[in-house]
Amino acid sequence: MKTVLNMEERKEMYRCPSCKETKSASEFHKSSRIKRGLQYYCKPCINRMSETRRQQRIKNGPTVIRDSKVCAKCKTKKPISQFGIYRSAADGHVSYCKPCWVAITQKAQAKQRRI
Ligand SMILES: [Zn+2]
Ligand SMILES: [Zn+2]
Repeated sequence: MKTVLNMEERKEMYRCPSCKETKSASEFHKSSRIKRGLQYYCKPCINRMSETRRQQRIKNGPTVIRDSKVCAKCKTKKPISQFGIYRSAADGHVSYCKPCWVAITQKAQAKQRRI
């Protein structure tokens, strides 16, 4: 009698190049982009790496400290306090000065109300 093992039951061991530990396939995330169907790094290592990347992003995030900025709308150079905080922006501030930003959002709201 032949025993056919399916993919899930394979007891293959893989070596994680990061922690250098040999672990079973269940310790690795599946990946359709990699030929063997599994990530190269084990789950804890992947978690650690993405956490490190996240920490680095926070650390290297919007650290450009400026004291003034040119508004993208009125093209006027204004003190940075005239710009709202926007974490996703490269310099951590909204591209528009507060008066322009208020005008833009009010316009958007007015538009929304009309709909
Ligand atoms: Zn590992
Ligand atoms: Zn402006």
